[in-house]
Amino acid sequence: AAVIVAIDGPSGTGKSSTSRAVAAKLGLSYLDTGAQYRAITWWMLTNGVDVTDAAAVATASAKPVIDSGTDPSAPAITVDGQDASGPIRTQEVTSRVSAVSAVPEVRTRITELQREIARAAGGGIVVEGRDIGTTVLPGADLKIFLTASAEARAARRSGETKGADVAATKEALIKRDAADSGRKTSPLAKADDAVEVDTTDLTLDQVIECVVTLVEE
Ligand code: C5P
Repeated sequence: AAVIVAIDGPSGTGKSSTSRAVAAKLGLSYLDTGAQYRAITWWMLTNGVDVTDAAAVATASAKPVIDSGTDPSAPAITVDGQDASGPIRTQEVTSRVSAVSAVPEVRTRITELQREIARAAGGGIVVEGRDIGTTVLPGADLKIFLTASAEARAARRSGETKGADVAATKEALIKRDAADSGRKTSPLAKADDAVEVDTTDLTLDQVIECVVTLVEE
C-alpha cells in the first residue's frame, strides 16, 4: 500500500532537506506545505490584498490557483500558472506568511489541496509542514516531529540565507515561531503518535538515515 509520511516541526530543523531526501531515497512523492502558504501569501501581496485584514484575506483565499509539483528532486510551485518558487522565498513573504496562514479560510482551502495531492500520490508521499500529523493527514502511516535548539535552527537558517546575521536570524525565527504557535489556529503541534527526533546534534545525513529506518520498519 502507498505509504504516507508526515514530517512536522518548526523552521530550521532540517524539515525540507530531510523530507526531500527521504522521498528521493524511497521513491516517494514530496509535498512542501509551507510553500503553499507562502504561495497564497505571495498572491495576496501581488494582488493588493491587505494581509493584516483577515476578512479581506478570507474573501480572496479561494481565488489563486495553486499547483504544487511532487517531485522531490525538483519541487515546483505555480500560482495562476506562474512559477512562484523564487518569489515565495523573499523576506517580504517570509515576514507576512504567519498572518495569512492564521486565517481559517486559508487553512481550510490549503488543507483540502494537501489531502487531494496525498490521495493522488499513488506510490506514497512525504508531506512536510506544521499540522500534517495532527490535522491534515491524521491517518498517516508514520509521523515524525523534528526539533532542534533555537541556536541550531538560527545557525542553519542563516547558513541558507548566505551569511545573514545569526542573532538577527534567531530573533526573526523565534518571532515567526511565536506567531505560528501563539494563536487560536496554531498549526505547530506534535501528534500524540509522532516520533520526536531532536536534530540539534545530528548531521543532515544522520537525520535522513533515522527517518528512512523508521519508514522501513
Ligand atoms: O515551512 P515554511 O517555513 O516554509 O512555512 C512558512 C509558513 O507557513 C510558516 O511560518 C507557517 O506560518 C505556515 N505553515 C502553516 N502550516 C503548515 C506549513 C506552513 O501554517 N503546514
